[in-house]
Amino acid sequence: MHLILIGAPGSGKGTQARRLVETYGIVHISTGDMLREAVQNGSDLGVLVHAYISQGHLVPDTHVTELVEERLDRGDLPKGFVIDGYPRTERQIDAFDRMMLARGRTLDAVLRIDVDDDVVVSRMSDRRIDPETGHIYNLNLEGDHPSPEIEARLVQRDDDRPEIVKQRLLTFHADTEPVMEHYRSRGQLIEVHGDRAPSLVFADIQRRLATRMKGQ
Ligand code: AMP
Repeated sequence: MHLILIGAPGSGKGTQARRLVETYGIVHISTGDMLREAVQNGSDLGVLVHAYISQGHLVPDTHVTELVEERLDRGDLPKGFVIDGYPRTERQIDAFDRMMLARGRTLDAVLRIDVDDDVVVSRMSDRRIDPETGHIYNLNLEGDHPSPEIEARLVQRDDDRPEIVKQRLLTFHADTEPVMEHYRSRGQLIEVHGDRAPSLVFADIQRRLATRMKGQ
């Protein structure tokens, strides 16, 4: 199975990606994670892309496309993948089509998790991180309550503050709307409503994927 996953920051995309991996035996590929890793490792690519990432700009298409191609050729994707963060531009869509075709792989669907911006802003404002362990808590979520000792040291990430979240959402919409339109016009877009319990969102995804795979 080959999927593209699209969802705003705070849409629950990470949680759904984990469930897709567990259920379908596919691999999660995230260009954001791969690029951040390259920066951390100080690789040639990392040095090239560092400035773009730190300023929140898109990295030039050729670098990202090369990175994705290398990832597809690593030989650990027998059951396919779910990719997020790519493609983000028209050129990346074309490049992705070519690289899939060249490898005999077919895109099954583009999954979009749709959550209202207001909900995202409120979800993110409830997020706190434990600076000692890196664990992320959601203060509004049942069963996610830290002990009083841990709660006392929790901090909010700068980019989870409402003003910054709103800015990140604007960028997200500007980047992804054209990509979504593209796949909608090809009849490959599946949109699920993300403002529900994660298990309900996932049940919806599974149902929609099953219908689609039967129809192919
Ligand atoms: P993300 O975690 O997907 O938001 O990505 C973090 C950063 O990595 C972005 O702000 C971009 O600078 C860069 N990036 C990730 N994916 C791409 C892509 N497909 N094209 C260009 N830049 C990307």
